[in-house]
Amino acid sequence: MEKILIKDCQYLAFRNNRISVEDGDILISGNIIEKIGRNVSLPGVKIIEGKDSFVMPGLVNTHSHAAMSLLRSYADDMELKPWLEEKIWPAEENLKAEHVYWGSMLAFLEMIKSGTTTFADMYFYMDDVAEAAIKIGIRGVLARGLIQFTDPEGKNLQENIDLIEKYHKKGDGRITCLIGPHAPYTTSPEYLQKVMAAADKQGVGIHIHISETKQEVEDVYKEHGVSPVEYLEKLGLFERHVVAAHCVHVSEKDMDILKKHNVGVCHNPGSNLKLASGIAPVPIMLEKGINVGIGTDGASSNNNLNMFEEMHLTSLIHKGHNLNPLILNAREVLEMATIGGAKVLGLDHEIGSLEEGKKADIIIIDLEKPHFYPKADLISNMVYSAQGSDVKTVIIDGKIVMENYKLTTYDEKEILIKSEEMKKDLL
Ligand SMILES: [Zn+2]
Repeated sequence: MEKILIKDCQYLAFRNNRISVEDGDILISGNIIEKIGRNVSLPGVKIIEGKDSFVMPGLVNTHSHAAMSLLRSYADDMELKPWLEEKIWPAEENLKAEHVYWGSMLAFLEMIKSGTTTFADMYFYMDDVAEAAIKIGIRGVLARGLIQFTDPEGKNLQENIDLIEKYHKKGDGRITCLIGPHAPYTTSPEYLQKVMAAADKQGVGIHIHISETKQEVEDVYKEHGVSPVEYLEKLGLFERHVVAAHCVHVSEKDMDILKKHNVGVCHNPGSNLKLASGIAPVPIMLEKGINVGIGTDGASSNNNLNMFEEMHLTSLIHKGHNLNPLILNAREVLEMATIGGAKVLGLDHEIGSLEEGKKADIIIIDLEKPHFYPKADLISNMVYSAQGSDVKTVIIDGKIVMENYKLTTYDEKEILIKSEEMKKDLL
């Protein structure tokens, strides 16, 4: 079994449900963190010198549409409805499996280079997303996006079921699956009943967009007389593990429902700001004890997949919006991007923090950068000063996938060239 020792580093410790900075050595054995302590030594292991580095658990991107990286900067500065109806959906109609494979590869390269080790994805041709993730070595939580009007006969739902049967817990356990009904306004109650029955039969949870825009909330009120969250509760959707993207326009009552059913919320500040959807009441959610993680959403509404930028935004927008610099401090935000995200995805028993016995999903930050000088509080640094490009080495499931800024599992140049080809072919 391969062993790696990260020697003499400062690292993000996790004790009594709280992060802090400590120093010592981290021993990885196979895909597990075997030991964290001082003066750990072992002959014949691979040693990574930890001096001038900060070691953290990999970041967890709780909501993305990875292959949309091909549509990066293809339709900017538009309102959500025309953006979707005139640009994104028509382009997506031409998507083929090959586009999704290379679009996902490009996304994973960007994610790994900026410190993300786990992503949750909702898209099409998910077999190809799974294959790309397995090949490049990232951890993924996959769901087939389901929109009812493109699925009158339930073929897409069947694809999601096939995805689960083929890939759930595969890729050395790095791939897990969910079912992905797009949103309450793009699926009928009958369709959602079928989704829930399939989820229960497969023993998996659900990934869905909820209350992203004001318009959506108004439309659901018109049709069902209640808010999207109340409507989904009535349907019984929250009786299983649910990952809820956005939750921008939610009431106190909605948030109490989310808390009651332990629904995990994905906060996507960059996307919500860019599409002018609004600002989710994250400080209130955290006060109520709701699990909130951070996500980038697709690269077409962000336009990057850099979780350091999302952390920075998460902290700043809520302070500015609430005229209160005390809320969403650096510690809370870094927790949201690591252990919080792992909880949202139901993976906190194995990832999200540096603890003995957990999976070795680890990122190493290069502290020899001007914006980390003079030396100060590292947790503050990670949220307010760090850039995705400070990530030097990435270990996922005990395997080094990037070392000294270079991807080890695939030829980076080929991914970039292929993405150009795929974009030309698609548009
Ligand atoms: Zn989304």
